[in-house]
Amino acid sequence: MQISLLGSGSRGNSTLMKYDNFAFLIDAGLSGKQIIERLSTHNISPTDLSGIIVTHEHIDHIKSAGSLARKWNLPIWTNRGTIENGKKYLDGIPEYNEIEVGKSFTICGLRADPFTVPHDAADPFGLIFTSENGYRIGFATDMGFATRLANEKLGGLQGLVLEFNHDSGMLLNGQYPWKVKQRIKSKLGHLNNEDAGILLQKIGGPELEWVVCAHISKENNSESLIMKNVNKALQKKCEKDIKPQTKVCIASQEKPTELLGFI
Ligand SMILES: [Zn+2]
Ligand SMILES: [Zn+2]
Repeated sequence: MQISLLGSGSRGNSTLMKYDNFAFLIDAGLSGKQIIERLSTHNISPTDLSGIIVTHEHIDHIKSAGSLARKWNLPIWTNRGTIENGKKYLDGIPEYNEIEVGKSFTICGLRADPFTVPHDAADPFGLIFTSENGYRIGFATDMGFATRLANEKLGGLQGLVLEFNHDSGMLLNGQYPWKVKQRIKSKLGHLNNEDAGILLQKIGGPELEWVVCAHISKENNSESLIMKNVNKALQKKCEKDIKPQTKVCIASQEKPTELLGFI
């Protein structure tokens, strides 16, 4: 199971997941052209894809899901709330696999557990993927705060994609209109560095091999502020166990991350 964030941030999110000889996308919020270009950096063409999971109907996650699905005959995996609220993007898709948040499903032989995240969309969810040999990757972005459920679900993972959206001080003092600031920092908005760090510290066990910091705000965050919180969290983890270094990767809006996981 291998994962690469093709692009991540408020201007578009899409992630490639590879398992066995299969490949699929989590979200398709970049342009179709960008997604295809970035897939090619991993030697994947759209005809290699088995489908797209759509986590919620915000444009930075759903924008090209319908057009890619129609053009390449790809099934969409999502829930009813997202289908109903994302109609204008998903109209005329060839196949729809309805999932229910809280109920596991299988995609390309991989077990996926969708869990609810607090965010201002119809029925948004994070995901845990478990391979046949027990390797587990968690995926949680677009999450207003770290719920108890997220704490429970994201424990004991080998790999984690976690939102480090903004620095609270930068957001508060930045240029955004007050209404936007309020939305981002609300319990249905986006996860700030500090809360993400605390969550990471709680859930990061000895088996955690890598973390990708994702959905980073261009305007209200910096790599050094993120790393300060990540290092603090991982330092605590190091005190707990003797296993060395968890690899840290910063996702970007412009280019794909390397493939993380195992072959
Ligand atoms: Zn969103
Ligand atoms: Zn988003």
